[in-house]
Amino acid sequence: MIIAVDGSAASGKGTLAKRLALHFDLAHLDTGSLYRALGLHLLRSGVTAENAEENKAAAAVASLDPGLADSPEIRTDAVAGMASVIAAMPAVRSAFTTLQRDFATDPPHGGGAVLDGRDIGSVILPDADFKFFIDADLEVRADRRTRELQAKGQSVMFRDVLEDMRDRDRRDRERTTAPLKAADDAFVIDTSTMDADRVFTLAVDHIARPSE
Ligand code: C5P
Repeated sequence: MIIAVDGSAASGKGTLAKRLALHFDLAHLDTGSLYRALGLHLLRSGVTAENAEENKAAAAVASLDPGLADSPEIRTDAVAGMASVIAAMPAVRSAFTTLQRDFATDPPHGGGAVLDGRDIGSVILPDADFKFFIDADLEVRADRRTRELQAKGQSVMFRDVLEDMRDRDRRDRERTTAPLKAADDAFVIDTSTMDADRVFTLAVDHIARPSE
């Protein structure tokens, strides 16, 4: 079974994807961590959002340390911002495409895979067995992200997180290549007033429902 979970930042898509993977014994790939890892790698090399060059950014994918995707350093707003800038570059997206498709078709363990991101159901895995699109109000998501970053010891303020998230949403939704949008056949969940348990239950019920 292959499941695609797409959605906006701090919508709850990562939490849902992890829980579905555990529940159905599937491998899980957080594809945002790939773009974040590349963003961190470039920032460390002195590249900025203003001077990032598409060809050089895409070429850096081949030499990217895979361990970076697990580093807590990718979980900052600065890295998320850089990730969304380079993620708008078609050559960068295509440099990550094979890795994501290979993970889905030949997962490292389990009987299938869950991938979460922005374009999994629409571009990377259009034939996924199940597609979810997770969203929530901007203010709710910014509040969640502020608390999450503060709990990790980062000193961030709600207003700054809100502004960063607004910019990132705009870049992700308005880019020409693989913009953030629900696939036509995605099951859409607005998590603004739901907790993680409710979202998980809705998703599992959807998977269990006989298809028409
Ligand atoms: O999911 P996360 O918020 O960690 O992703 C960071 C950024 O990476 C997103 O804002 C988006 O620009 C980019 N991304 C993407 N496509 C994906 C996953 C993430 O463009 N499949």
